[in-house]
Amino acid sequence: MANPIAGKALSDIEIEEMLAKKALDRSMFKRLLPLLQPIRRQILAVIGIEVLLVFTVFLRPWFVRELLDRGLVQQAEHWLLDERLVLWLGLGLAASWLLRFLLAGVSQFVAGGAAIGVLNALRVRVFAHVQGLSVSYFDQTRAGRIISRVDRDVDALEPLLIQGPPELLGALLRCGLASVMLWRIDPRFFLSLVATVPLLVLATWSFKRISQRNWARVAENRSRFTAHLVESVSGVRLLQQCAQQGPNLRRYRGLLDDFNHALIRGSLRSSWFAPFTALLSSAGIAVLLLVGAYGLAAGDVTVGQVAESLFYVFLFLGPLQELSDLFERYATGSASAQRIFLLLDTRAQITDCAAPATLARARGEVHFQGVGFSYTPGAQAPVINNLDLHIPAGQVLAIVGPSGHGKSTLVQLLTRFYEVQTGAVLLDGIDVRELAQHTLRRNVGVVLQDNVLFSGSILDNLRLAAPDADDSRLIAAARELGADEVLERLPHQYHTEVGPLGAHLSHGQRQLVCLVRAYLADPAVLVLDEATSAVDIHTERRIQRALRRLCEGRTAIIIAHRLATIRDADRIAVVRHGQVVELGPHRQLIEQGGAYAALYQSYLRGAQGVVPVAETVI
Ligand code: ADP
Repeated sequence: MANPIAGKALSDIEIEEMLAKKALDRSMFKRLLPLLQPIRRQILAVIGIEVLLVFTVFLRPWFVRELLDRGLVQQAEHWLLDERLVLWLGLGLAASWLLRFLLAGVSQFVAGGAAIGVLNALRVRVFAHVQGLSVSYFDQTRAGRIISRVDRDVDALEPLLIQGPPELLGALLRCGLASVMLWRIDPRFFLSLVATVPLLVLATWSFKRISQRNWARVAENRSRFTAHLVESVSGVRLLQQCAQQGPNLRRYRGLLDDFNHALIRGSLRSSWFAPFTALLSSAGIAVLLLVGAYGLAAGDVTVGQVAESLFYVFLFLGPLQELSDLFERYATGSASAQRIFLLLDTRAQITDCAAPATLARARGEVHFQGVGFSYTPGAQAPVINNLDLHIPAGQVLAIVGPSGHGKSTLVQLLTRFYEVQTGAVLLDGIDVRELAQHTLRRNVGVVLQDNVLFSGSILDNLRLAAPDADDSRLIAAARELGADEVLERLPHQYHTEVGPLGAHLSHGQRQLVCLVRAYLADPAVLVLDEATSAVDIHTERRIQRALRRLCEGRTAIIIAHRLATIRDADRIAVVRHGQVVELGPHRQLIEQGGAYAALYQSYLRGAQGVVPVAETVI
């Protein structure tokens, strides 16, 4: 399947809508087959069991015929019952039922085990792929949509991949065998049924088309409300703060209504199929009874044969009715498969070049060289505009400036989460695009404002930066950085659970954990987006001290909001409209009396120590 988002990144809504309209790609089935490779033995076993099942089903009409034709014997005016034969036939019939249940159970057990294996392998593959996608993908795609694909869409494949094929085979076998048996009893019986086949094929074909389109729409609507749910859960604080629960609930209900409409519309559009096939079955039975009655009258067939034929009519038309259910599942599964493959086809936009350079340990010299960048290529005003900035190894640079003028974007470019459109960003004189990403990420450590922690203990979180370190090494790092006093006051000290995304810790505690984590990673260049929210004076002092210690012996680029950090820096860069408008040490810039001096005065007036970023006017 060609990847429609390889060239230009579409919004997530555009992608989903395009998918809902798109006809199913045939090559998709070719891509599904390799998934079944590891379970081919189980599939063969299930197919074998299905064939056996069909034969057990076909024993029944034979028993009934024998019962009628040989168990009941007419002698003169009377009917005599051959009790021995009837008993044996009864036992045989019961055994065929028992065998059927047993086989069905074994088939479900084998298919279920295989399904778990295949679907979990696919889940892992999709998860691994998602983890490797570029940051820009996550900036554009709502988390809920990704979850919907990795979770629900993978589940929806089960009937298509695992249960569908043996069921389809069973249905076709029953249909084919019933035709042969009918022909053998009396070709007229078979021919009287054949008239219904073209009608059934036509109906099945149009039903299949309708349900495929329906299911693509249903899947799209479902992923919309999942996306909304995920966003509401992660933004629940904001919702409650703004008292937006009511409107948010209405929006969720609206999305659910859309989903229900899609579901109901889909069901209505395809609801004619089941009654239609039932009607055809009844017509088939009526025709057979008529033909059978003529046969009986003419003495061509026995009562037992007519009764047996009726079974075959059910066995012939029954599977055709089941096809509606099978196609429905096929349509759901293939709509989901299409969405999963689209995700798997999404290439990471940032990849290593053919022969990437590696650095054991960078010196830490950073150079932004004539950098131009915009999040939407071709935008009139670039976010970073021909920016030059050289940071010698070991220097601490504070970046200040008004909000929305490109400070964080510089971090995105240095870490190569986004790529420059003009110019270059160099680490130790090497273009970051030529460096292996793992080298770059190891040498450039980032501590962002949101201070993300994963569920687990503080030690678990610290270990992310030093997977091989033992507990004592992690605790020693916290002590070296002066974070011990704050962290050891927690209920279980370093074993305290931090909660989802670190929610059980205070802002300052989270920040300290992140600083220790960065310290353990020991990068040559540290990039830090200083938190704007104020913490208590005690923790604040610990943070400042940890920060100073952390910057020792490495290059540090700090998007600074605290006066102390700004004053302590070797140099300060004032960024405005994506350009460096002033650059130099604190004293020199104050003496210049320009933008920084004005900014500093406003900081002092604020007298809080933390700069009110959004309002700073230079
Ligand atoms: P600062 O850090 O100075 O506050 P940013 O670098 O975060 O500013 O943002 C600069 C501009 O880029 C802003 O106009 C912002 O809206 C835009 N921007 C930031 N991140 C993204 C993104 N992921 N996608 C699109 N636009 C973005």
